[in-house]
Amino acid sequence: MELIKRLPEGIKYLENEPMSRHTTFRTGGPADLVLLPSSPDELKETLRVLREEGVKPEIVGNGSNLLVSDKGIRGVVVMLGGLDEMRVEGERITCGAGASLIRFCTFAAENSLSGAESLYGIPGTVGGAVYMNAGAYGSEIKDILESVDYIDADGSEGTLRGVEGYGYRHSPFSDGDRVITSATFALTAGDREEIEAKMAEIKARRVEKQPLNLPSAGSVFKRPEGYFAAALIDQSGLKGTAVGGARVSEKHAGFIVNTGGATTTDILQLIEIVRDKVFKDSGVMLETEVRFTGER
Ligand SMILES: Cc1cc2nc3c(=O)[nH]c(=O)nc-3n(C[C@H](O)[C@H](O)[C@H](O)COP(=O)(O)OP(=O)(O)OC[C@H]3O[C@@H](n4cnc5c(N)ncnc54)[C@H](O)[C@@H]3O)c2cc1C
Repeated sequence: MELIKRLPEGIKYLENEPMSRHTTFRTGGPADLVLLPSSPDELKETLRVLREEGVKPEIVGNGSNLLVSDKGIRGVVVMLGGLDEMRVEGERITCGAGASLIRFCTFAAENSLSGAESLYGIPGTVGGAVYMNAGAYGSEIKDILESVDYIDADGSEGTLRGVEGYGYRHSPFSDGDRVITSATFALTAGDREEIEAKMAEIKARRVEKQPLNLPSAGSVFKRPEGYFAAALIDQSGLKGTAVGGARVSEKHAGFIVNTGGATTTDILQLIEIVRDKVFKDSGVMLETEVRFTGER
């Protein structure tokens, strides 16, 4: 590929790479090219070359909220796992976009900083969590977010301060082309043992309620106003409903799990079955939280 010659020297890349290796659903066909920058400078340079070549990349964090087409992705995927630096300054922590959210929570606890405990266990990157305004157990990442650094589609760099424009599973980044490069969180000094105890409790709740032994992308649907998606799905008798290797979890009806050999097509078909039945039974149209990408 001609493009590869223009990329920063030494950048890691994978050609014709199955995206099933990079999504927590373990489904998805091959991407033509996956680029793995290992530093903010390498990312910047990579995005510059892609811009000049007229290529709009697909940004992937940990693929924990993604359904990639079985046909794969024609074009370039940029994965940010290499941007995983974390640093603490007083009660603030700054993380590279590719840092694991779980690692960030642990790092906060190690530094006796409180505020991130409820997010512990969400298997995304910091960038993906900001993009989605991920949240759990009554809190959202925006609650501790101070600022986000990004690179715009035209290559300009910026910092978005504050939390205007964040909502339920939505951020100011959700509808645009900005690449989040790092985020700074404002936490509060606390007692390390208490913080770790709360994290352990959150983890235990996840293990008890969620089918963590099988590949999934967490809750497939957003919470409809005034309802709980899982309860509606359960009431419609859909637990255990399957298409190919995809199945509505018996443990948590909001999860679709890959019981082995599922394809993205199976999962999409199952999503439609669930939406139709729930709508027929309750009049509520479920909206997906997972994002679809790739060739249709
Ligand atoms: C077992 C399990 C439990 C889960 N529990 C929860 C939960 O409790 N709460 C919750 O909110 N979510 C939950 N999730 C879903 C998922 O972990 C979150 O949505 C997470 O924030 C996604 O992060 P990611 O890095 O995997 O993003 P990806 O899935 O890789 O990407 C998601 C979107 O973000 C974009 N994106 C990612 N990184 C960047 C970046 N740096 N710049 C610009 N755009 C970017 C992508 O283009 C894509 O559109 C769960 C998932 C699983 C598998």
